[in-house]
Amino acid sequence: MSKRDYYEVLGVAKTASESELKVAFRKLAMVHHPDRNPGDKEAEIKFKEVNEAYQCLADGQKRAAYDRFGHAAVSQGGAGGPGFGNEFGDFMSDIFENFFGDGRGAPGGGRGRGGAPGRERGADLRYNLEISLEEAFAGKTETIRIPTSIACETCSGTGAKAGSKPRTCSTCGGYGRVRAAQGFFAIERTCPNCHGRGEVVDDPCPSCSGAGRVNRERTLSINVPAGVDDGLRIRLAGEGESGLRGGPAGDLYVFLSIKPHPFFQRDGADLFCRVPISMVTAALSGEITVPVIDGSQTQVRIPAGTQTAKQFRIKGKGMPVLRSREVGDLYIQVSVETPQNLTKRQRELLQEFDQSASDENHPESAGFFSKVRDFFVSGSTRA
Ligand SMILES: [Zn+2]
Ligand SMILES: [Zn+2]
Repeated sequence: MSKRDYYEVLGVAKTASESELKVAFRKLAMVHHPDRNPGDKEAEIKFKEVNEAYQCLADGQKRAAYDRFGHAAVSQGGAGGPGFGNEFGDFMSDIFENFFGDGRGAPGGGRGRGGAPGRERGADLRYNLEISLEEAFAGKTETIRIPTSIACETCSGTGAKAGSKPRTCSTCGGYGRVRAAQGFFAIERTCPNCHGRGEVVDDPCPSCSGAGRVNRERTLSINVPAGVDDGLRIRLAGEGESGLRGGPAGDLYVFLSIKPHPFFQRDGADLFCRVPISMVTAALSGEITVPVIDGSQTQVRIPAGTQTAKQFRIKGKGMPVLRSREVGDLYIQVSVETPQNLTKRQRELLQEFDQSASDENHPESAGFFSKVRDFFVSGSTRA
């Protein structure tokens, strides 16, 4: 069966532009549309012929091949040629697509209006990064490895073997969905030929088996600024999973957590450190050495008569405030340690001290017990 020339079928010149082709195709498709010609076999054949011609000429590569070699170049069946012999309804979707184009969102298809079919945005990734308080203080550059899929380098993400290109799915015309007429109803469903992608890969890329992306471990350098706090989220746009078939990549979210420190507690930019001091230092005064988050040490003067829970502030030795020049303070809270495991001699010394002690030495105790006494006395009076 000899085939008519595609240009002749569409009634256009060999030099016709893309838009001229489109206009001609629309006109003819409307004329021969099966809805307008119910039961007309000839119209059905014409309609398919018009569709076939347009599918070929609308594709730059196929058109060039057709111009040089004629039908032989494009209709060898299987690979290369537009797949024919589809259900009737499938052609209708081509029509709908061509007429209504991107104005028709796929209802319930999960695709935005006008979005290129099959192009899926890559998933966002979450990475939990735990750092020490010292690292939060100084900031750091952390190298992380994330298992992710990246665009296949062999095929640049198209999924097609080198030298070939994915072609627009002929079943759905690139729409990703097909419509089938059933009585009065037109039913739309995901294209069975391309599974909604809108294009088909005849010659899949050997590296990615046509998926367009491969699983890789990616190394990424993350800059953690000084002063970060627990629970902070750093967003790295476009560093998530790569998109499918040329879709945009997702984002990478780095969730920071800070390991508990053995002796510093943090409250915003301030740091707290509980330091035990001896009873004698607390009573007689003295100097203690305390740690600083930057790794250094500093001296704190303990005045005579210091009580447990007394706080000493060391200005500017806390955490830096994120993206500012401010720095928090370090609070040293002392806790007076009661001596234990006393020798006989030590006991004697303390007993000797106790015998000589008066309320002057323990004003707080004296004050407290006199209050308690007053409370019970006045209580019993009231009763
Ligand atoms: Zn590939
Ligand atoms: Zn399709």
